[in-house]
Amino acid sequence: MQDKLRALVRLAEIDNSARDTDEQLRGIPEELEERRAAVQALEALVGGQRGQLEEAKALLESQIEDLKLRNDMLARARAKSAKARNMREAQMAERELESVRRSIGDGEQERDRLQGLIDQIGSILEKPLTELEEQKTALTEAEASSGDKLTTLEAEKAEITKGRDEHVAKIPKPIYRRYERIRPKIHPAVVEAVDGYCTGCRMRIAPQLYNQIIAGTDFHQCQACNRFLFHKDAIL
Ligand SMILES: [Zn+2]
Repeated sequence: MQDKLRALVRLAEIDNSARDTDEQLRGIPEELEERRAAVQALEALVGGQRGQLEEAKALLESQIEDLKLRNDMLARARAKSAKARNMREAQMAERELESVRRSIGDGEQERDRLQGLIDQIGSILEKPLTELEEQKTALTEAEASSGDKLTTLEAEKAEITKGRDEHVAKIPKPIYRRYERIRPKIHPAVVEAVDGYCTGCRMRIAPQLYNQIIAGTDFHQCQACNRFLFHKDAIL
């Protein structure tokens, strides 16, 4: 039993030392994922604004075409007005001229509004476009360097966790599984019991349980924090 208990304590020591490396190993893909998500969000934003810009440009183009036609109409209405043979024809021509002028005025207003919109979207787009370029560059750099970092960290981890499997082999499977379940939630997952207390959560251990821990005849967990407990005398 002592051998099994000792194996769990050593295993926990190894896992505790590997914790930083593990965290960094997890952090690299997480960071890349965050960067990718940020680039995608910006691309969506820029894409949406570009769509609006294209739409406004197309509208402006057709508005300009339309204004050309209305100006042709104006020229024709003027010619008609000049040829008016009586008061009635002159009044009719004047009304037509007035209506064409109004429609040109409206068209010019719409043209200016569209031009303003295009300028506005263009200036709004500038910032996210610059940011998108910067973030893309940063992502490419992070992707390029992450491979080397991962290799270094993996080697570091292999060095730290050397001999881990041998300890695992000595621990009963259900205990090992329980340990692996606890480990991500409570750190450290295996702690010493000293003077009747759990050094993980500082809670007093029931005297009977403490005696069993000292005897080291089985695996025990703290009733308060669920950590595995051991007494140093039991793993000598
Ligand atoms: Zn505890």
